[in-house]
Amino acid sequence: MTAHRPPARPAAATSIQALQDLGLTAPADRAALEAVETAFRVRVSPEMLAVAAPGVQAQFLPDPRELQLRPEELADPIGDDAHRPVPGLTHRYPDRAILHATQTCEVYCRFCFRRETVGETGTLAEAEFDRVIAYLRETPAVREVIFTGGDPLSLSPRRLGAMLDRLETVETVELVRFHTRVPVVAPGKVTEALAEVLDRRLPVWLVLHVNHAEELTPAAGAALRRLNRAGVPLLSQTVLLKGVNAEAGVLEDLFRALLRHRVKPYYLHHPDLAKGTGHFRLTLAEGQAIMAALRGRLTGIGQPLYVLDIPGGHGKVPVGPGYLQPDGAGAWLVTDPQGRLHSYRDL
Ligand code: SF4
Repeated sequence: MTAHRPPARPAAATSIQALQDLGLTAPADRAALEAVETAFRVRVSPEMLAVAAPGVQAQFLPDPRELQLRPEELADPIGDDAHRPVPGLTHRYPDRAILHATQTCEVYCRFCFRRETVGETGTLAEAEFDRVIAYLRETPAVREVIFTGGDPLSLSPRRLGAMLDRLETVETVELVRFHTRVPVVAPGKVTEALAEVLDRRLPVWLVLHVNHAEELTPAAGAALRRLNRAGVPLLSQTVLLKGVNAEAGVLEDLFRALLRHRVKPYYLHHPDLAKGTGHFRLTLAEGQAIMAALRGRLTGIGQPLYVLDIPGGHGKVPVGPGYLQPDGAGAWLVTDPQGRLHSYRDL
């Protein structure tokens, strides 16, 4: 009798050569793209290779414009390294800390603000994780641990389970959050074993990084449903990107699709000043105009918070359009979703 094995997953494309063989890059760009490849890692998962939408491909396919570095761009735009008390941990805000459990991702996004550090293989060493646990015990103000990029769900359920078991022994940690692209870019990794590991006493929240409705394939939908059934609250974060999603209609489609998958749109990030990403960036005023257009036409639970990570590690702040201004006579002028002004007087 023949044993039934699941079909082998097609290979990811991890080089310019592989992308060219697939006809996804222009032969004329070959030399420039090889220069890009030496600076920034290349990897497109098979699931994302299969999505032809330009707004999806632009996120993963290298572009010669990545060689254009601008003076305002930074190697560490949000200041991860400036707030690193022990290897593998960033502690920027009092009540939460970011854990870099791995530098590996299933895709390497061309706009990533950690593009200079992601791509290494291997996980945080056991001795380093011991130091993280010791720091968390000594720092009870930290109530939330955020697993983030590389992609934490690229780790095996066994490894994640072991890390979560240890975090559960730190009594002051009340919450764990995962920032991940895996349910979208490699949905097959969201197995029952993973769902079981995340379904535990310590509340685990998941923030899905997704930028375009076409990323939400049927397989991604099944992965999100599995997480949802395991009791994992699902939020999303989206990076506002020229050439991908910088139009109100495109974002509306994404946020409505997320709600259908029981995912609450949480953050819309203004793009960071990562090196070689100028072609993705738009102005804050353009971002505010998009958010203002969404205000009148999309349900409140579909509205994310538009935020800017202040370069240099100074924190994240809302930068959405303002609806309130003083009228100069002790009252307020309030702008409604259609742009009309109304007077409002406090008590
Ligand atoms: S850390 Fe996230 S945004 Fe950056 S390359 Fe990895 S998956 Fe993409």
